[in-house]
Amino acid sequence: MQDKLNLMIPGPTPVPENVLSSMSKHPIGHRSGDFQKIVQKTTEQLKWLHQTTADVLTITGSGTAAMEAGIINTLSKGDQVICGDNGKFGERWVKVARAYGLDVKVVKADWGTPLDPNQFKRILEEDTNEKIKAVILTHSETSTGVINDLKSINNEVKNHSKAITIADCVTSLGACNIPMDEWGIDVIASGSQKGYMIPPGLSFVAMSKRAWEANNQSNLPKFYLDLKQYLKTVNQNSNPFTPAINLYFALEASLTMMQKEGLNNIFARHARHQKATQEGIKAMGLNLFTKENFGSPAITAVKPENIDAESIRKAIKNDFDILLAGGQDHLKGKIFRIGHLGFVNNRDIISVISALESTLDKMGKLNVPTGQGIAKTISVLNNE
Ligand SMILES: *Cc1c(COP(=O)(O)O)cnc(C)c1O
Repeated sequence: MQDKLNLMIPGPTPVPENVLSSMSKHPIGHRSGDFQKIVQKTTEQLKWLHQTTADVLTITGSGTAAMEAGIINTLSKGDQVICGDNGKFGERWVKVARAYGLDVKVVKADWGTPLDPNQFKRILEEDTNEKIKAVILTHSETSTGVINDLKSINNEVKNHSKAITIADCVTSLGACNIPMDEWGIDVIASGSQKGYMIPPGLSFVAMSKRAWEANNQSNLPKFYLDLKQYLKTVNQNSNPFTPAINLYFALEASLTMMQKEGLNNIFARHARHQKATQEGIKAMGLNLFTKENFGSPAITAVKPENIDAESIRKAIKNDFDILLAGGQDHLKGKIFRIGHLGFVNNRDIISVISALESTLDKMGKLNVPTGQGIAKTISVLNNE
């Protein structure tokens, strides 16, 4: 059978039918009254999702554009920043910061291990002249399935410095609780093809009052990503350039769906699916790559012993048409990753755990009685 693909990678994620159909019409004029209504509505919905009264701006571009915008709109050439790096995305923000001539101190942790808030604390305490202007980090490190302790790290930033916190929440927003105002996060970046359940092409950057104050000092070069232009136009329910209009139709449809479900239900669903996935994997005798307490609500990384992870991933694609993600860089062939972000229900989790167990059984690599993994998954799904 063809064309029954189930995307279980950490983005792009599956798109609901009514979101898909919302896009299948002619674009409308981006200076029209009808489009202004959509911008007005989605802007309010985005504030709801971020749990903030701050400005949330929509950019046509992928998640990296939103992160880059957050960095270049708040900082100036030669500014000192701390970048957390414990995976592929942490590495990316170090590269972006250096590309713009920032003076980057890197706080590292091994891939699969979370960043240590105390390391941030120590560096900030030593910075008595307040040279450090920003702390840049990834909340859910998609490459390894680790969730970093954004709340604690941001508390250290707030307690020991005047630096702003710029957070990549691309695979955590819409998956777990991130109350922007309550925690006092200054910049949050996210992208449409992840928790938003819409295709790639839009990204979002939320800016606190302190972030705008930093913006007044910022002298890094910018044009397409100059957020002042986005702020000015969003206040007129518009956009500085021609936006991806049909993706706005999708955004309105998906955020409306999310509001119907409710934030707490969305977070509980992701937590349940995360646990059902983790428990099923352990019960079939496989190892999690990330310690359970540090697992991302969006993605679970699995490290099979004595089996090539790519051969499992390929068999699951061939036999079940479920697409999983592989390992990156030195983890290629060592881990595979199961995305459970966005438009995911119990059926998806039951399918992927059964497919995995069936695949191991077929390979002769299942060291426990067949069905033990899925039994555990079902028990979590029915009791959480
Ligand atoms: C997907 C992702 C991004 C954004 O990547 P783009 O390809 O630019 O959309 C950023 N950070 C994390 C953690 C991600 O998972």
